[in-house]
Amino acid sequence: MAEITLDGIRHAYGPVRGPDDYALKTLDHVWTDGGAFALLGPSGCGKTTLLNIISGLITPTEGRILFDGKDVTLLPPEARNIAQVFQFPVVYDTMTVAENLAFPLKNRGVKKADVRARVATILEMLDLAALADRKAASLTADLKQKISLGRGMVRENVAAILFDEPLTVIDPHLKWQLRSQLKRLHREFGHTMVYVTHDQTEALTFADTVVVMVEGEVVQVGTPEELFERPRHTFVGYFIGSPGMNVFPVRLDGATAHLDGETIDLPAAASAPPSARTELGIRPEFVTLGETGIPFTITRVDDVGRERIVHGEIAGRPASAIVPEEGEVPAMPRATFRPDRINLYADDWRIEFSS
Ligand code: ATP
Repeated sequence: MAEITLDGIRHAYGPVRGPDDYALKTLDHVWTDGGAFALLGPSGCGKTTLLNIISGLITPTEGRILFDGKDVTLLPPEARNIAQVFQFPVVYDTMTVAENLAFPLKNRGVKKADVRARVATILEMLDLAALADRKAASLTADLKQKISLGRGMVRENVAAILFDEPLTVIDPHLKWQLRSQLKRLHREFGHTMVYVTHDQTEALTFADTVVVMVEGEVVQVGTPEELFERPRHTFVGYFIGSPGMNVFPVRLDGATAHLDGETIDLPAAASAPPSARTELGIRPEFVTLGETGIPFTITRVDDVGRERIVHGEIAGRPASAIVPEEGEVPAMPRATFRPDRINLYADDWRIEFSS
């Protein structure tokens, strides 16, 4: 296992004429040894590019990558001691499940008894023991991908294990099971793991630290709680949560925000540069609908079991509130926001309240 340092990494696939030509903008980050990380962002934001830079499939246009302080920027993948699990299964159909798992170890000359013991551990942890002697060809895509996950985790001394959207082909009902198995494997084996996904549930359940990317840029690195409670960028607010954070344009005046002629009490005073576009963010969980506050126009109510999601508009902007299953929602409600859950943004970046 290794600590992975990204030192001023930038990458462009073609000639660079300006900042927009970089698929990956400047990135400085340390992945601590043994951590479980997720790279989360929409399609095309640069996740795979970054993963391929770590594994050595791509040499970055600028910057260095270090494993435990050693510069590996120019080393090919086979010299980096990395295991990688891809979107689609990589298994040998003519081999049995156990032979597939043993292959990465035999290839590196691991002793037979050690191979047997390690393969048995992986078979057990992934619930594959009953299929150990079955030829991979006869298995479903789900099971083949499970073997790929096992092959990624079978070597004990890898610097890191990289997962590139590994649950894409997995049946939805099996996904939750594999997600928790992966988390357990991380806890037991303690490998540095980097998990790439565009699915917030996968990222938030697997990782201790989530790196959120948009358009080639890292906008926040934090725990799942930090991403939920204090999104650093409005994009993180929208992208994390279901539904995402409400964001409204406001004018700030000390400890008051003005929204379309209405006032909102803030937990403390805040200020932004005079020319900045200022916005208020509040998650639907912290919006209360009742008789007082800002007018909320309801467009739809979704019943999702223990609670209801009320969709509508505030000041002409899309808004949502999560309300309990029980209790009345007025037909023409007004909305109040829990002050200590309000976030403020200047030009999309979070600003602090004065202390
Ligand atoms: P996805 O989830 O769709 O795989 P991603 O977040 O992994 O997306 P990347 O595949 O890293 O994103 O792509 C980042 C940007 O780089 C995109 O604009 C993409 O079009 C571009 N890109 C990726 N690979 C190449 C390539 N080989 N040549 C040119 N441009 C590329």
